[in-house]
Amino acid sequence: MPHRDSHDVIVVGAGASGLATATALHAAGLDTLCLEARDRVGGRLLSVPTSRPGRALDLGATWFWDGEQRVRDLAERSGTGIFDQHLAGDTVFQDAGGIRRLPGNLIDAPARRFADGAQSLSFVLAASLPSDALRLSTPVTEIRAAARGGLAVRTPTGPVRAEHVVLALPPALAVAHIDFGDALPDDLVRLARSTPVWMGAVVKVVARYRSAFWRQAGLAGAGISRVGPLQELHDMSGPDGDPAALFGFAPAQALRPNLPRAVTEQLTLLFGQAAASPEALHVQDWSQERWTSPPHRHRLQDFGLFGHALYQRPALDGRLHWASTETAAEHAGHIEGALAAAERAATAVLSAAAAPAMNPNR
Ligand SMILES: Cc1cc2nc3c(=O)[nH]c(=O)nc-3n(C[C@H](O)[C@H](O)[C@H](O)COP(=O)(O)OP(=O)(O)OC[C@H]3O[C@@H](n4cnc5c(N)ncnc54)[C@H](O)[C@@H]3O)c2cc1C
Repeated sequence: MPHRDSHDVIVVGAGASGLATATALHAAGLDTLCLEARDRVGGRLLSVPTSRPGRALDLGATWFWDGEQRVRDLAERSGTGIFDQHLAGDTVFQDAGGIRRLPGNLIDAPARRFADGAQSLSFVLAASLPSDALRLSTPVTEIRAAARGGLAVRTPTGPVRAEHVVLALPPALAVAHIDFGDALPDDLVRLARSTPVWMGAVVKVVARYRSAFWRQAGLAGAGISRVGPLQELHDMSGPDGDPAALFGFAPAQALRPNLPRAVTEQLTLLFGQAAASPEALHVQDWSQERWTSPPHRHRLQDFGLFGHALYQRPALDGRLHWASTETAAEHAGHIEGALAAAERAATAVLSAAAAPAMNPNR
């Protein structure tokens, strides 16, 4: 069946914020199309399955925290098990002088995890959309005022038109990859170009083991290193330690061809010989992800721009809305922020839709 070329709303991006926006608008009866550049949903929610069914390891977001009710509600809806981050044990500290064991877990705050992996949140949202409301591998390249009213959205598979467009991707990425002509006000372009992408310049490394041997040694799996390559480490095992895993963050600059070997050597120094032979080692470099990180990512440092007032109101005559976590007025950076931004964008579209008749040209 050929694609329709006109919709009430187009949502750009099928991460947590885009999918939450699209599902809310679809549930409210608006004809909503979600366009996603990647061949998968989830964006910065990315989980790899393990051999144990229902247990996945997160290469993107991992935790949610008390007070993040939207995430908890969505997790409960998705059916993923929710469990507590492992906290018990001592911390390892590494600097040029060597390695020390510090009493207690000095870096992990109490937090919750998703047994099926954080990406399962995006799967449940996507599943509630009709199949023709979500197009994967469809990057948006241009947004302009449409000749017949509304906004014209260009993709490699052709143009589509909508009354409203929701940008559910990091603002810096939107202005780097989408051509708006000169339609956006200068202050908005400057703001978007300067807004950092949360965790957009980070490498996450996950090492899976046969067992959580560090726990038996009284270690929490938590660590800080001043020498790297991993600088901050955590236990990332599943419920009851299955699958057993450690993860760490490295700055993107630490990435080099021999990173897996350097990481394994570091883990062995920190946690003992048992760490020398991970069953699997996943290296996820978010800085090299074209659909997460803009080319000028290393210059973006001003996190005070998150949730800026300009993101709270629509642009282009009330037709262009912002919805990524970076635009959230609360919990910006977190999954909770993505869901809060989605709520705001969906509310704005719905109140505009309640005014005049929508999409009279369809
Ligand atoms: C390593 C890492 C660890 C993290 N840890 C946590 C954590 O523990 N807890 C937490 O709460 N948060 C964490 N976060 C942040 C969390 O992942 C994000 O807040 C959330 O996933 C952002 O969702 P989003 O929808 O706003 O953006 P994204 O997930 O980035 O979604 C944007 C979507 O837009 C798509 N897209 C981009 N350009 C285009 C285009 N031109 N056309 C169409 N589609 C496009 C992308 O492919 C993507 O799917 C972490 C992030 C990372 C990377």
